[in-house]
Amino acid sequence: MPFASVAVSLRDAVELHGSEQLKGKSDDLLEQMDKLGQALGGPPLAQALANSLCATCGLRVDPERDFRDELSREEWDLSRMCQGCQDAVFSGEEEP
Ligand SMILES: [Zn+2]
Repeated sequence: MPFASVAVSLRDAVELHGSEQLKGKSDDLLEQMDKLGQALGGPPLAQALANSLCATCGLRVDPERDFRDELSREEWDLSRMCQGCQDAVFSGEEEP
């Protein structure tokens, strides 16, 4: 499956089911997500979900405290990126 298709289907899956519920989804989906995450240099997905680790840098995240606003928290649910990684990714678009 092309990389882009995997990324799109993963995003759909997270949007449909929410990150918590994904723990109970099919092993096949989780295995695909795991491979994608590790291909991108992140920690194993199951570990990231279980420990609330940033998928990009591996930082432990507390969703209740570690995000600036609701938008950043929603981005976390989708991408599992911590606030710092979100800032790094999006900083090119909007300088304060
Ligand atoms: Zn991070």
